Amino acid sequence: MIDTSAFHDLSYGLYIVNATDPSGRKVGCIANTFQQVASKPAKASVALNKDNVTTRAILESKTYGITVLDEKATMELIGTFGFKNSDDVEKYSAVSHEMWSDGIPYVTEASCAAFEVAVTDIVDVGTHLMFIGEVREAKVLSSQPPMTYSYYHSVLRGKTPPKAVSYVDEQASSPEETVKGLKEVVSQTQQATCEGNGTSQGQRFGWRCSLCGYIIEDEAELPDDFTCPICGVGKEFFERIALDC
Ligand code: FE
Repeated sequence: MIDTSAFHDLSYGLYIVNATDPSGRKVGCIANTFQQVASKPAKASVALNKDNVTTRAILESKTYGITVLDEKATMELIGTFGFKNSDDVEKYSAVSHEMWSDGIPYVTEASCAAFEVAVTDIVDVGTHLMFIGEVREAKVLSSQPPMTYSYYHSVLRGKTPPKAVSYVDEQASSPEETVKGLKEVVSQTQQATCEGNGTSQGQRFGWRCSLCGYIIEDEAELPDDFTCPICGVGKEFFERIALDC
């Protein structure tokens, strides 16, 4: 028997994985799986979903950067790298960043450290590839505490993207099925919540994105063409919630 709630007791940090594809385009994604795995020489690993654009870039370049997010990181920054696709948006265009000497980027805002890793081994672990490598560069960027995955969930109210290693869903077997299931759940929740609560005197209502957790306060209705500013999904992913309760 696998009690999926046991996975919630694992602790992680929150990182931006940085890479550059063969055309020179800067790409990146969020991961919680970066860790040091050996010393002398220092080696590290990160596991990334096989479908990620960043994974494809690292398979080509055999080099990746890691930006360690600190507690100043906003949902907007995390959403840009964690819930959007590098094929659709230029993720670094509005984000402060610098480059390692060989052209791999790292983010300099809301970040406390950065690493560059030269890949030595790639292990296929199923949904994900684990990139193990030698740490080539490392620097401290701020004295802020690093963000933990627990902080992201409890303070920022962030959710786990379907492509993350730690995503646990008992009913869906792929990100696409997960998204389809989320739409159905939200549809049912919207009906139940709206019909059940009405608009009682003094009660505030808002909308919460079921994919990333972003909350919009005090909006009676969302426009039909509304998209989440954090993860980009449409109005149908938002569930109506009561605020202050
Ligand atoms: Fe969202």
